Amino acid sequence: MEDSQNKPPHIAIVPTPGMGHLIPLAELAKQLVLRYKFSITFIVPNDGSSMEPHKKLLQSLPKTISSIFLPHVSFDDLPDNAPIEARIVLSLIRSLDALRDSLTVLNESTRLVALLVDLLGADALALTKDFDMLPYIFIPSSMMGLSLAFYLPKLDETYCCEYRDIPEPVKLPGCVPIHGKDLMDPAQDRKNEVYKMVLHIAKLYNNASGILVNSFADLEPGAFKALKEGIQGNPPVYSVGPLIRVGSEVDRRSESECSRWLDKQPKGSVLFVSFGSGGTLSHEQLNELALGLEMSGQRFLWVVRRPKKAAHGNYFDAQSVENDDVSNFLPDGFLERTKEVGLVVPSWAPQVQVLSHGCTGGFVSHCGWNSVLESIVHGVPLIAWPLYAEQKMNAVLLADDLKVAVRVTVNDKGLVGRQEIAEYAKGLIEGEEGKLLRDRMERFKEAASMALSKEGSSTKSLAEVAQIWNTHKN
Ligand code: UDP
Repeated sequence: MEDSQNKPPHIAIVPTPGMGHLIPLAELAKQLVLRYKFSITFIVPNDGSSMEPHKKLLQSLPKTISSIFLPHVSFDDLPDNAPIEARIVLSLIRSLDALRDSLTVLNESTRLVALLVDLLGADALALTKDFDMLPYIFIPSSMMGLSLAFYLPKLDETYCCEYRDIPEPVKLPGCVPIHGKDLMDPAQDRKNEVYKMVLHIAKLYNNASGILVNSFADLEPGAFKALKEGIQGNPPVYSVGPLIRVGSEVDRRSESECSRWLDKQPKGSVLFVSFGSGGTLSHEQLNELALGLEMSGQRFLWVVRRPKKAAHGNYFDAQSVENDDVSNFLPDGFLERTKEVGLVVPSWAPQVQVLSHGCTGGFVSHCGWNSVLESIVHGVPLIAWPLYAEQKMNAVLLADDLKVAVRVTVNDKGLVGRQEIAEYAKGLIEGEEGKLLRDRMERFKEAASMALSKEGSSTKSLAEVAQIWNTHKN
């Protein structure tokens, strides 16, 4: 043990399943080793789905970041339609013994100073006591989402109805008012076990020594101020974003086709359409979207996935490249009719490269937080089309608060209609409203870059955390 005290401080990072959680944690880890000389081990719970994309991403990191994949846990007892959050939370809870074993081994050879878990991993924080580690949480989502976590116990005590039935909007401290129906999915059915799980996790947040959020002060100043002041009795909160992904191997392979096509389009003319790593549409909705894009007459680059019933149909299968012939599920003749204006990419596109290309003028997005930040960093306004998890909250933030997006409305058949899609697309790329959204987005783009500059707010926040971690067990 004495030897280990002379070693560089070591951080254990425990992501819960979902590439959207791992990607920003990987970016954070890079900064911690390159800038602050920590060494890091990712300890990854295994939910039994293909871990290949996770492995590829982790292998691409600097060599002072290593990774351990825990044995995969069983979900045989869960029904097929169990909410994704249940599977995510249980993959962590069912890995706690294995996680403890890994920490025991690490503790023998390193100066283990902090455990960093992500938003659904708070159950692991209890292990820190055995190893004298500092317990920290990373939120790969908005300040508004974190604010809800601290507010949820109060909401739970105040109302006995479903939150969607509360007539007035919910006022989270410092945030734009939000209707109960737009709160995250697990809060939409209070009788469901998943709601209880999320409430339990939210209460554990107070056990953290600090919470790092992938957002930045100038993006959500009200929520950040309220959390910074600890008005909900919360632990210290640090904004460390925007941490966004840099291109991966899979990206580079498909990069050339997308970039080559984008290079030939006029500046700001292309609508990028993608629903994250996990989002899928029903067959009917896919059809409406195709016909809407066609009616709009706008140029588009569309990542098309095989239609599925569940909106998160690809969540545990991220980045899987299906060898489907997309023409099998697109309207007859669609590809032929739109070939002059559209590029359809099956399954996966190099999103960051597409958003950073000057010819991309708008983004139809499911509003996953990584996609939101990537759009902001590159100054691309959005058509917000939330599907699951906390995406409706993100859409409210983008459309009602930041005013950098127009939000789609769903008709009485539960669909976003083709006519409306055509209008959104035209409005964003060619219309006056699109111009206003773009101008506002440009300001947030600059603010994002400032936050990450040498003297920027996020840089300073991370330095504060690094200082605390560095001096622990010294
Ligand atoms: N992504 C990508 N290409 C795709 C789909 C997704 O590169 O075709 C990346 C995207 O850039 C982002 C992440 O996958 O970094 C998706 O994260 P997000 O939080 O937006 O959504 P999630 O997948 O977690 O729902």
